[in-house]
Amino acid sequence: MTIQEALEKTQQLGTSDETINHIRNAGLLSVVLPGGVLDFNKKKSQKLLQLLKAVGGADLSMGRIYEGHINALYLIHLFATQEQKERWFNDAGEGNLFGVWNAQPDNGLQINCSNNIFTLNGNKTFCSGTGYVTRALVTGNINSDTVKGYQMCIVNTAAIPETQINKSAWKPLGMQSSDSFTINFDNYSDSTDNLFGNEGDYLKQPYFTSGSIRFAAVQLGGAEALYNETICYLKNQNRINDTFHIARVAEMTTQIEAGNNWLRQAAAYYDRWYDDDEYIKKLMAYTNMTRTAIEKICTVVIELSIKSAGARGLNHPYKTEQLVRDLYFYLRQPASDAAFADIGKFVIEQEAGIENIWNDSNGFI
Ligand SMILES: Cc1cc2nc3c(=O)[nH]c(=O)nc-3n(C[C@H](O)[C@H](O)[C@H](O)COP(=O)(O)OP(=O)(O)OC[C@H]3O[C@@H](n4cnc5c(N)ncnc54)[C@H](O)[C@@H]3O)c2cc1C
Repeated sequence: MTIQEALEKTQQLGTSDETINHIRNAGLLSVVLPGGVLDFNKKKSQKLLQLLKAVGGADLSMGRIYEGHINALYLIHLFATQEQKERWFNDAGEGNLFGVWNAQPDNGLQINCSNNIFTLNGNKTFCSGTGYVTRALVTGNINSDTVKGYQMCIVNTAAIPETQINKSAWKPLGMQSSDSFTINFDNYSDSTDNLFGNEGDYLKQPYFTSGSIRFAAVQLGGAEALYNETICYLKNQNRINDTFHIARVAEMTTQIEAGNNWLRQAAAYYDRWYDDDEYIKKLMAYTNMTRTAIEKICTVVIELSIKSAGARGLNHPYKTEQLVRDLYFYLRQPASDAAFADIGKFVIEQEAGIENIWNDSNGFI
């Protein structure tokens, strides 16, 4: 199965076991592993964001789940020991789907350790891909004699009883099929070999903040799908010669291309700056700008598309209404106000001035 075929199947089938099989068969679960085409060591952010955008464009829920898989493997790549990397990369190579389940209600998750065994207690919310994800990267508060802080671990989801998965509270505006359920992890236990990284590594910068370019890529994929669907609808209705529709298509085209430019530049800066301490804050500010700009772009595309599709176009058999609901909901990502404020703070802090702040080149020629 080629990647293109897997994407077409994803678009046709939506999020399902069959879709994940196609994604697996196209090699997309192992694409970032050592030696893979998008091996994290090769600094391939440009292509990785394009891939995430394509999966999001085929199906936003699948895009969200796939992004979680990539995020988990990236955190393992950054923070796991060599033995753990070999074990979990091997799991991914064998077709296990990973996810990152960090969001939590106020009380969160506690990790207790005793005799080389850790035990979890508490809940996680928004666990995307529940039922599909077989290895979940879960975060929690650890409090042992030697370690205190926010800790990552890998959970084998087959060991979580079905009765501890709350599906009934998942009644979202969109993204229903991402199955982002609430899970109670009480009494889950495993060997401490499955705890990884130092406490606090999950929040380490620039990785924590700059990871937002990956969900922004998935979002932009959804916006492009909506844009394409709107143009198809207008053509089918023979309304494409109307000046107002033409103007809206022009505006959507401009917005989508602006989003692609943001992604391209963010990917270039990510690969250039993420491992250089001098550029950490600059990269965080740039990626905060990227996610903020793409959120706005997607919102504008939704408004223009709704206006062109009208009530009829927002109804069966057109896909517009689902695309709108999914995208609108998926635009809600953590700490959007704080991300925006941090851009302003970064710029104001620049004592050397802000001339050429985003531009590495010297002079005009
Ligand atoms: C479809 C979908 C799937 C998801 N899947 C996963 C997943 O698999 N794993 C995972 O870990 N998470 C997942 N998430 C959760 C996601 O990472 C966020 O936690 C969630 O989207 C936060 O959304 P919110 O708008 O409710 O956030 P909030 O943080 O409540 O933000 C709402 C508003 O309040 C503001 N705000 C935030 N904090 C404060 C504060 N302290 N004081 C005042 N204002 C504040 C924000 O800027 C924003 O304007 C998913 C989310 C979605 C939508």
